[in-house]
Amino acid sequence: MALIVAKFGGTSVADVKRIERAADKIAAEVARGHQVAVVVSAMAGVTNQLIEYCREVSPMHDAREYDSVVSNGENITSGLMAMALQKRGIMARSWQGWQVPIKCNDVHGKARIVGINIEEMKKRLDEGEVGVLAGFQGVTSRNRITTLGRGGSDTTAVALAAALGAERCDIYTDVDGVYTTDPRIVKKARKLDKISYEEMLEMASLGAKVLQTRSVEMAMKQDVPVQVLSSMEEAIGSDLPGTLVTREEDIVEQEIVNGIAYSKDEAKITLIGVPDLPGVAAKIFGPLADAAINVDMIVQNISKNEKSTDLTFTVSQSDLPRAIDTLNKCEELKDTEIRGDDTVVKVSVVGIGMRSHVGVAQTMFKTLAEKNINIQVIATSEIKISVLIASEYTELAVRALHDAYGLEKK
Ligand code: ASP
Ligand code: MG
Repeated sequence: MALIVAKFGGTSVADVKRIERAADKIAAEVARGHQVAVVVSAMAGVTNQLIEYCREVSPMHDAREYDSVVSNGENITSGLMAMALQKRGIMARSWQGWQVPIKCNDVHGKARIVGINIEEMKKRLDEGEVGVLAGFQGVTSRNRITTLGRGGSDTTAVALAAALGAERCDIYTDVDGVYTTDPRIVKKARKLDKISYEEMLEMASLGAKVLQTRSVEMAMKQDVPVQVLSSMEEAIGSDLPGTLVTREEDIVEQEIVNGIAYSKDEAKITLIGVPDLPGVAAKIFGPLADAAINVDMIVQNISKNEKSTDLTFTVSQSDLPRAIDTLNKCEELKDTEIRGDDTVVKVSVVGIGMRSHVGVAQTMFKTLAEKNINIQVIATSEIKISVLIASEYTELAVRALHDAYGLEKK
């Protein structure tokens, strides 16, 4: 007997029929003798609709009231799921975030979980009850409802699994696992049986949007194995049909490269003729940070005349106009040409085996060169190499790299 947390995303509970189907899966786990705690998202589209209502009433709405509105989608699903389980003869009870409680800080709209009082729910699980927790929501120390940011139910599920000391956190979704790359671009993309937390973090934050990034960070920190699997297929979590996100040490056959990720939400800013003086970088990036603009890849060129230099960096596309505006107000840049370009994409090669193998970067550069794709910026970490290229070459680059590293179905 194991204790398992099973989370169902929006498409897996999109209508009553799907909720019933999800309930069948939980019933099958219970029949095998497992204890199950369930976490549910809002039915697909509901959270978007609630956000839209807030915007309609007031684009500058109060963040506390936003949370009190948008948290409601999950309440509906948790009640319906508990009913569906009861209909199957299973003792089940719904829980809203405040009832557990899932204690959060007061950053409304993207709160962080600071603690969970698990005793009562644990006691009930031990008595044979299935708890159905509304994901995405919590309560602040001032008793206000709060939400964890889009996709936050993943984080609720991992946090609950950690608090309960669960054996595994199953994330049921509309894909059957994590792939070597986007199967819409590469038909031969292969489903991975296992991937390390570190790699999944790179894949998640690089735009392979299977799990909320924060949930992977938490799983890594708390050492919770997470399985990504499809709710549309017959198999249940305990059959391990999906991709297991786990510790590096638990992966026997480590590939050098495990995936090719890409992110379209990139914009490049080039500053031509930046004064080449100590402290200038701080004066440029300081105001950007103050404006909560996240800067990613940064390259500074060597100065040609020792007076000025060129600087290139990336921000997310939605931040581009604000970033340009902020830079235009920067006293140090009054003689600098500021260029923005949002027709770029970041393509990355990810793999833990890179730590101990050379030549991975060379393969990437050679492959792109053969396709005549110009690399605009390069950035690396221990387990990742990213390049910025023109967005029109996204598919070409992803396919060529997937081929070059031999990631196709074996
Ligand atoms: N319903 C929330 C959202 O759409 C949370 C979630 O589904 O994870 O972002
Ligand atoms: Mg999601």
